[in-house]
Amino acid sequence: MSLYVEVALPVPLKRDFSYRLPESMPQQPAIGARVKVPFGRQQLIGLVTGVTDKCDLAPAQVKPIIELLDDSALLPDPLYKLTQWAARYYFCSHGQMLSQAIPAALRKGADSSRDTITQLQLTEAGRAADPASIKRAPAQQKILMELAKSALTDEEFNALELSKSGLKALCDKNWVEKLEITQQLDLSWRQLLVMDEEPHKLNKEQAVAVAAMTQEDNFSCTLLEGITGSGKTEVYLATLEHHLKQGRQALILVPEIGLTPQTINRFRRRFRVKVAVIHSGLTDNARLNAWRDAKCGEAAIIIGTRSALFTPMKYPGVIILDEEHDSSFKQQEGVGYHARDLAVMRGHLEGIPVILGTATPSLETLNNALSGRYRHLSLSKRAGAAQNVKQGIIDIRSQPLTAGLSQPLINEMRLHLDAGNQVLLFLNRRGFAPALLCHECGHLHECDRCDAFFTLHQQLGEICCHHCGNQYPIPRQCHNCGSTMLAGQGVGTEQLASVLEKLFPKHPVVRIDRDTTRLKGSLEEHLGAIHRGEYKILVGTQMLAKGHHFPDVTLVGLLDVDGALFSADFRAPERFGQLYTQVSGRAGRAAKPGMVLLQTHQGDNPILRDLMQRGYGEFARSQLQERQQALLPPAWHMVLIRAEAHNPQDADSFLNEMAMMLPRDREFEVIGPMPAPLDRKAGKYRRQLMFQAKDRTRLQKETERMLAQVSQLQSAKKCRWSLDRDPQDLL
Ligand code: ADP
Ligand code: ZN
Ligand code: ZN
Repeated sequence: MSLYVEVALPVPLKRDFSYRLPESMPQQPAIGARVKVPFGRQQLIGLVTGVTDKCDLAPAQVKPIIELLDDSALLPDPLYKLTQWAARYYFCSHGQMLSQAIPAALRKGADSSRDTITQLQLTEAGRAADPASIKRAPAQQKILMELAKSALTDEEFNALELSKSGLKALCDKNWVEKLEITQQLDLSWRQLLVMDEEPHKLNKEQAVAVAAMTQEDNFSCTLLEGITGSGKTEVYLATLEHHLKQGRQALILVPEIGLTPQTINRFRRRFRVKVAVIHSGLTDNARLNAWRDAKCGEAAIIIGTRSALFTPMKYPGVIILDEEHDSSFKQQEGVGYHARDLAVMRGHLEGIPVILGTATPSLETLNNALSGRYRHLSLSKRAGAAQNVKQGIIDIRSQPLTAGLSQPLINEMRLHLDAGNQVLLFLNRRGFAPALLCHECGHLHECDRCDAFFTLHQQLGEICCHHCGNQYPIPRQCHNCGSTMLAGQGVGTEQLASVLEKLFPKHPVVRIDRDTTRLKGSLEEHLGAIHRGEYKILVGTQMLAKGHHFPDVTLVGLLDVDGALFSADFRAPERFGQLYTQVSGRAGRAAKPGMVLLQTHQGDNPILRDLMQRGYGEFARSQLQERQQALLPPAWHMVLIRAEAHNPQDADSFLNEMAMMLPRDREFEVIGPMPAPLDRKAGKYRRQLMFQAKDRTRLQKETERMLAQVSQLQSAKKCRWSLDRDPQDLL
């Protein structure tokens, strides 16, 4: 009797594939183990989802497995189940979801256990050799000198960025040898947790929160709503202590921008345990090592960005998601999963508590907390010595502006700078100016591939399209009339910083945006210099708004918020409320009182007034009511289909056919097809179809029914399309 193996493969087809177990492979593969199989002309690695003795295909059609890569399941059962659940929820194949969950090195076939490590060391001949004798081969010389100091593991060798070919040459000369060393598993932290830092004495609110969250160890989900500086991190640390002391691991997820050395160090400083750090910037190898450390239980704390959600834990204890409102938890490309929603599901499947912390809860989470589905705890006072912030609006209607700065703001800046403090200015537009204008004919230079203006980058000498990356040297003449009178229109961070240098020559200015932090390590360098007080004026985009703690900043100015208040996106007010509150939270974090000033042409805007007078908490609650009345998420559940094509009719007719397959009634609404807010991007026309249902299960069923028919549509072949469940961004 032959055995058949069902395999989930990283291809969009929503089914498993059958293979034969060859006679040479007597061992029956475990469910969840990796196998290498032939697929068309390629070889793919997939996960075994079942073993049967039946197969519908003719035996000759079933190909044999090439290789069995694991003795047992690669992922712990709850995590495997999570990927199954997520594949169904996000309408992708199980294989596609597994590719999100498994580190690249493992998808390419690397060994999943970390029983042995490779160590490089000098041989007798290598020790006797004179480095000067190979000075013509500097790469080899460098390796020889490093190894003379100490032996290196594979990983350390890679981290030092030493030459691989140099190493091979040295091994061939027999100067260096590779040893396979069995690694001892160190789980001592589970027996005795060593604390390196004395915790703060918790204030009453903090103590209540910690007590509530640690009273039981099975699944529960808590929203910890604490204003900036209220000591949420301190609450996380105390909760962590509880779980670590019981020998259980903690998974901490932070936004992409929030994973700074500062954040990681706060966890490292407190507990003497191994911390695995996981983010998208790691090499495949480093990521695999962190993954293995977590899987075997040696790393007590795992801290990382979105994809770290899928890190296995041998002794799962708690999942904490900091800044839960942050949009980087939602993946935009490919499978659009939301790490927050999956974290809650993972906690449920693992039977462990989940904590969502933020000063500015997303309306989704707030809704769950207010309806009683999540526990709701709050921290309403700033911890330690910090005081509350004063806030004011500067109405800039018909006021003269210097590079976007009003005189009252400049005056206030001077007061704070003269007192020796730092000032932070927030402007969410990088570059010199958001458009290039012809002074003679009024022409605004537009990207030839998108419906968007070019941004002027003076320092780079370029105009760039921020949507498609298109760039040209700054034109000397207007494309429309040939005039040479071209000038930037509007203000970006580059211009603001250079004008500030002239206005305040004694106070050094630093600019933090994607352009100034492109190089690896440059953000950390800038942040370090800010902390040392080397800069007094901080100019930045979103990047400066999140999670940083600047004790000497006493004044925060928001330069241009009008754009943020008007947008096609129904989430715009929520986003603005979060941004405003987070940026304001950068002011007066230590003993010094803080102030926030906001410049606007919309001084009477009700959203703005509501936010400033009642604070984010009340503002968010009234926003939530509006969403409920408008039948928008989180009240209803939404799916967005995006389609793009060189010919707009192709995208339209495809989406129209899809729309026809969907119901329309009082509990199911179909909107579109319609042009995307950015109608044309990189030369392609973009259309979208939105639909939403009152009931989540119904949305699931109707979407599945529709997708089953889509593969037969001819029009589907003429465009590129993707599906986004619970879309966060309507662009
Ligand atoms: P959040 O994460 O809510 O923004 P943090 O945990 O970073 O707040 O705390 C803000 C500041 O207050 C930090 O410098 C922290 O060390 C300090 N802090 C927190 N809790 C206490 C406490 N109970 N007593 C004294 N200082 C505290
Ligand atoms: Zn012109
Ligand atoms: Zn473009």
